[in-house]
Amino acid sequence: MTTPTVCPGPCNNAWRLAEAKLATDGTEHDIPVTWGKPVHCIGCVNRTRAKLAELPELIVAIGLEALHGTAPKATGTIGRIHIPAWPGQASRLLTDHIVGGLLELEDDIRELRRLRHRPGRGTEAQNAVGAVTFLAAHLEWALVEHPAAHEIHDRMSANPAAQITGWHRAATRFTRRDARLEHYRVPCPRCELLTLYRGDADDYIECRNTNCQTLLTPAEYHDHTKRLADQTRMARAT
Ligand SMILES: [Zn+2]
Ligand SMILES: [Zn+2]
Repeated sequence: MTTPTVCPGPCNNAWRLAEAKLATDGTEHDIPVTWGKPVHCIGCVNRTRAKLAELPELIVAIGLEALHGTAPKATGTIGRIHIPAWPGQASRLLTDHIVGGLLELEDDIRELRRLRHRPGRGTEAQNAVGAVTFLAAHLEWALVEHPAAHEIHDRMSANPAAQITGWHRAATRFTRRDARLEHYRVPCPRCELLTLYRGDADDYIECRNTNCQTLLTPAEYHDHTKRLADQTRMARAT
């Protein structure tokens, strides 16, 4: 039986920030901590599983983006622009990054769990689907027992959940699937930029500053706006 730990996922970003402030200048806070069950919390496990499942389709969409992005305009001279090879190259680089990452993580887990080597699967798409299927089957293990499972999620983290989240974020941005976002026009509690957004189906509000990526529950967001309003009121009163 593993003892529960503080979930290393983005669910605790606001709590970690508040704890850091408490440690440096003694500012008390009432942000609740989210415990892992036993390492990642249920919410982070479910979010990771959902993102992983969406990756094969997103990889296809990245490829299509390249085709449409580089297609020359057939008719008309007005508005014709020189389209460089870049959209196709960007799509290629991102696909390599995501599929390469998936296969590396699969190989890593196969080695750690002493499983047989990854079978040859054929095309890149088949490789990606195979890796996603494998990772979905081993996700519970990966988010508890993987040597990096306790690492706090950030861009450099080898935590499997952080890696999957990073690939998903890069893919949704590239394919502009994240267009339907509601912008929350209040500075982020951590980086203080106006980068708080909530996606259609999301149960949390996310900072889109890639160096921050704080996640807030609606209740945390509510408390944050209330604190800001109180500060403004106090500033006016003095
Ligand atoms: Zn969590
Ligand atoms: Zn932020």
